[in-house]
Amino acid sequence: MLQGMKDVLPDIDGIFEVYGTSAFVCPFCDGWELRDRQISVIAPNDVDLHFVKMISGWTKHLSLLTRGSLFLSADQRVELQRHGITVYEEQIKRIESLQGYVNQITLSSARSVECEGIFFTPTLMQSTDIPEQLGCVLSVNGPVMKINTDPMGRTNVPGVYSAGDASGVPFQLISAASSGATTAAAIQLDMLDAEWSKV
Ligand SMILES: Cc1cc2nc3c(=O)[nH]c(=O)nc-3n(C[C@H](O)[C@H](O)[C@H](O)COP(=O)(O)OP(=O)(O)OC[C@H]3O[C@@H](n4cnc5c(N)ncnc54)[C@H](O)[C@@H]3O)c2cc1C
Repeated sequence: MLQGMKDVLPDIDGIFEVYGTSAFVCPFCDGWELRDRQISVIAPNDVDLHFVKMISGWTKHLSLLTRGSLFLSADQRVELQRHGITVYEEQIKRIESLQGYVNQITLSSARSVECEGIFFTPTLMQSTDIPEQLGCVLSVNGPVMKINTDPMGRTNVPGVYSAGDASGVPFQLISAASSGATTAAAIQLDMLDAEWSKV
């Protein structure tokens, strides 16, 4: 199973137009291009809040949009204020953009946030239900649904292997390629084992 993941975007008007051009999910992949720019982190919960710290290494012009969620504790508010991060706790009305490049985010109060780049967390789903049809065990960890494997890429179903994003390895090309190589080795070892035991 090398089917990758399907990114399910949050239900925000205008996000589809900017995704992959000026709205991203991985600071390691896309932080450099947005260094020193005006960045908005969309984080409606505690788990996604870690993005703020990660992006703060690329730019000090940061705002946090919680999409109407009031999850921030008093300590978190003080911490964000200390780092000069503006917090907007209203619903997002629309992401305004031109040819994929965000220029502002309009809030439900009609206020708007100047913005040149966005980071957010999508929900990562398996791109097909083939693993389930085959009887593979899947697990959900936060926004990620992955196929469970052993360290060599073997699923619980004999003869079915998985690698890359689908198995929840760190979502990077090099990690996907590395797990593909490991899984290929496991497949060959298992096939040789089967042949060997026939004699
Ligand atoms: C916007 C964005 C930017 C990124 N930027 C970077 C970056 O800068 N650097 C980096 O290292 N990583 C980046 N990544 C992550 C990287 O793309 C993934 O980690 C990597 O592509 C995973 O490889 P994979 O082979 O597991 O899955 P994928 O690359 O998703 O490949 C899976 C393939 O399987 C195909 N497929 C699915 N179902 C079927 C089926 N039923 N039959 C036939 N084919 C099927 C899909 O069409 C797809 O081609 C980025 C991801 C996104 C979404």
